[in-house]
Amino acid sequence: MIIDSHCHLCDERLRPRQQEIISVLKQNGLESVFEVGWDLQSSKDAVELSNMYDEVYAIIGTHPHDAKNFDDTSREYYKEHAKDKKVLAIGEIGLDYYYDLSPRDVQKKVFEEQLVLADEVGLPVVLHIRDAYKDALDILCANKDKLNNGILLHCYASSKEMLREFNKLDCYYALGGAITFKNAKKDDVIMAIPEDRLLIETDSPYMTPVPFRGQTNVPYYVNLVVDKIAEVKNVDRSVIEKATYQNTLRLFSKYNR
Ligand SMILES: [Zn+2]
Ligand SMILES: [Zn+2]
Repeated sequence: MIIDSHCHLCDERLRPRQQEIISVLKQNGLESVFEVGWDLQSSKDAVELSNMYDEVYAIIGTHPHDAKNFDDTSREYYKEHAKDKKVLAIGEIGLDYYYDLSPRDVQKKVFEEQLVLADEVGLPVVLHIRDAYKDALDILCANKDKLNNGILLHCYASSKEMLREFNKLDCYYALGGAITFKNAKKDDVIMAIPEDRLLIETDSPYMTPVPFRGQTNVPYYVNLVVDKIAEVKNVDRSVIEKATYQNTLRLFSKYNR
């Protein structure tokens, strides 16, 4: 069994297909999917979806794109619902300097505030970092005492060198469709991630893996991510399935089968 540790079935592209997608998860080898919020409304939607379907768990938080809209209402909602049985983590939070959809000082402040929140509620954090690895690392290091519940870097896309720095913080890394795009440097990163720190994800509807690029991504395409990792590491895909599954359970300790 495998788990898609990061998807957005509440995105408008997938919302009309939720039921159909969830109904075929098992036959595609997926035990469950983690639905990730990006703002207050999508976090509420994630919680609601997790209450509707056994196969769906929720991760709630405000994405750096939406940092400018983070307020006390969001904070209170996250804090309250962090206690829910199927809410596994605070995310996706972090920094995105590629799009800069929120001012950088606001992104940093909101990122830090949600690290504090995750610590208060005792949950791991799921991080979205794009073109901002150095600043993210600085913020994490400055808040080291609040990171005792685990850190997942979703869609990890930095260097092997940066990986060494994040390893010092005992981070986990989730790889998705991007590793199937042609780029040898990505193979180096796959090899460099410690085997007991590797997770898989789709980030659907985004990051559609080869050979479906150009189409909408769906959680069961996570199988193509497993295949790619197995190919690069030259092992049977069952080895990757087993390792990533165990890593997911270890990091998200509230998850129960
Ligand atoms: Zn993301
Ligand atoms: Zn995402």
